[in-house]
Amino acid sequence: MTSTIRVTEVTKEYGPVKAVCGASFELGRGELVALIGHNGAGKTTLMKLMLGLIRPTSGSIEVLGDNPAAGEFAGRRQLGYLPENVSFDSALTGRETQAFYARLKREPMTKALNLLETVGLGPAARRRVGTYSKGMRQRLGLAQALIGHPRVLLLDEPTTGLDPELRQTFYEVIEQLAADGATVLLSSHALTELEERAGRVIIMNRGIKVADGSIDELRRLARLPTRIRLKV
Ligand code: ATP
Repeated sequence: MTSTIRVTEVTKEYGPVKAVCGASFELGRGELVALIGHNGAGKTTLMKLMLGLIRPTSGSIEVLGDNPAAGEFAGRRQLGYLPENVSFDSALTGRETQAFYARLKREPMTKALNLLETVGLGPAARRRVGTYSKGMRQRLGLAQALIGHPRVLLLDEPTTGLDPELRQTFYEVIEQLAADGATVLLSSHALTELEERAGRVIIMNRGIKVADGSIDELRRLARLPTRIRLKV
């Protein structure tokens, strides 16, 4: 496996709070991985560490062969990120918003605007974002994260609150990106049928990685019934 992300014995403390405790794992090219855990499990903290927004208290993180927190991190433009609570300027249209991010990321405008079609926002592209539903804002967030065809895509609870049809669209888009060789990590509170489609599942509980494997492996280990029930 060619690793694009290497997390080695990483601990992140916020004062007395240990958000991540000694986590280690590697993510490879073309992997679609679900990062599962309850509130406060450390999912967002891990993503922020991978993005270089924060530094580990101990241990090391490597993304695309470099330290993402280093000022000169060359891979930054190849990372796509959809934060948990994505917010946009409600006065701009979907198109204007996407154009803004394309300019910010210095990526070709036409390709960026085409992504609105990819996520199914074509018909609503000229509407103001203030009139969008939560699901539409999530799709816009995904379109923004996809600008520049990222080699690493980090999605923080992207499907929470989406109806099944939207979740399906979401998965189709990110499965395609992974099939093209990107590393996709998406966090969620629990495994649903769609998250089970991820090739691999990492389960976090209170900052500790408690499981890492394919759904089948995890089922076998835990002797879980056909529909996995997450009790971490
Ligand atoms: P959720 O599903 O609620 O988003 P999460 O798995 O993403 O949870 P994190 O946001 O990574 O969890 O938080 C892990 C722990 O670290 C929690 O106890 C949280 O309160 C704490 N924490 C996160 N960010 C900070 C911060 N900036 N300052 C202090 N504590 C923090």
